[in-house]
Amino acid sequence: MLQPVGVGHKSLADYTHLVGRPLIEEIRQLVDDLNGLRVLHLSATAFGGGVSEILYTLVPLMHDVGLEAEWQVMIGREEFFHATKLLHNALQGNPVDLSREEWHVYERFNEINAQQVTGEWDVIIVHDPQPLAIRRHAEARAKHWIWRCHIDMSAPNEPTLERIVPLIEEYDGSVYHLEQYVPANLDGRGPTHILPPAIDPLSPKNMALSPEDAAFVCDQFGIDVDRPLLCQVSRFDPWKDPLGVIDAYRLVNEEMPEVQLALVGSMATDDPEGWEFFNSTLEYAGGDPDIKILNNLNNVGSIEVNAFQSQAEVVIQKSMREGFGLTVSEALWKARPFIGGEVGGIPLQVQDGKTGFLVRSPEECADRALRFLREPELGKQLGRAGKEHVRQNFLSPRLLRDWLRVFSGLK
Ligand code: UDP
Repeated sequence: MLQPVGVGHKSLADYTHLVGRPLIEEIRQLVDDLNGLRVLHLSATAFGGGVSEILYTLVPLMHDVGLEAEWQVMIGREEFFHATKLLHNALQGNPVDLSREEWHVYERFNEINAQQVTGEWDVIIVHDPQPLAIRRHAEARAKHWIWRCHIDMSAPNEPTLERIVPLIEEYDGSVYHLEQYVPANLDGRGPTHILPPAIDPLSPKNMALSPEDAAFVCDQFGIDVDRPLLCQVSRFDPWKDPLGVIDAYRLVNEEMPEVQLALVGSMATDDPEGWEFFNSTLEYAGGDPDIKILNNLNNVGSIEVNAFQSQAEVVIQKSMREGFGLTVSEALWKARPFIGGEVGGIPLQVQDGKTGFLVRSPEECADRALRFLREPELGKQLGRAGKEHVRQNFLSPRLLRDWLRVFSGLK
């Protein structure tokens, strides 16, 4: 058996007045024809990163509206996660393909996991490339197989993509965050769908935290809550560019020495490179007492992430590649002044100058941060607009509605 993930209970009705009644009614109508649909989500890990963040809300909401939804995670070992990390990076543009041996490890673990898939499902949704090859060894387990891609495949390493595309083509459909992530020349049996992800406004990470509570939490991590704070929340991964954030902070610091920086990052179980990069980030910070580098081993969980995002004068996500960037919607939902890299899914959430700023360099990032710090009214105005943009487009019930539409279209 694959590892089942306990997701607890959530009620769609609780979201009614946050997203508006029409969306909730649309969901109720769609689900009329789908009652009892058996849906299994398969992913590589239940911790860290955007996929698990989404599934902890989507799966219980699917359950609440009447589907038999479950989530299970793969069994893997370090050699597998090493190979899938390479795969992930190659599909996001790193020029290094997997070696023959690494492809072999990838295939072998997918086959082993496929043998562990039990039950009979109407739909199995496979998340990301790690479990993509399970389908060909377990086809009979579901009437429909859908591949859900969470990464930016707009400029992939071609040899890697060529191995992956035939696997995708076997599916009855595939789902992407953005149109530009759909592989060119994909000639599959099923349609492609564009479903941007969403955040849960009622989760501990996103529910409203009072300024006092946010300050109280940050204070315990050594933040001086009377001085301005810049913050980036993300895995320690070169694509997230924490070193560029440190550069931007240093530039801001020259003009405003009172400013502080918090880099908050969880370490995923399937991310062996994470630790190495974590250490190089620490080194890059050079012992500056106003740079706080924290991870989940410091007990930084959802409430703490919420507190840092709520407390920060400016929230940054200076990624150089970003599938979507849940952290962006998380910050905007808290009406924070926001600066993001102009890549991937970030421009979908941030309209430059309207709901935040988009930047391409540490210098631009520092410049916009200084504007926010010097003009609090500007930050308030953009933050409010950002929150409404998220309300309309990036809250969980909208994603649930989109999935129900995909299920309705299955023949
Ligand atoms: N996250 C967290 N703790 C951390 C760092 C990140 O809970 O220390 C969460 C973050 O709040 C977001 C998710 O992990 O919900 C990251 O998703 P995103 O789409 O931003 O990036 P990914 O990690 O999937 O590339």
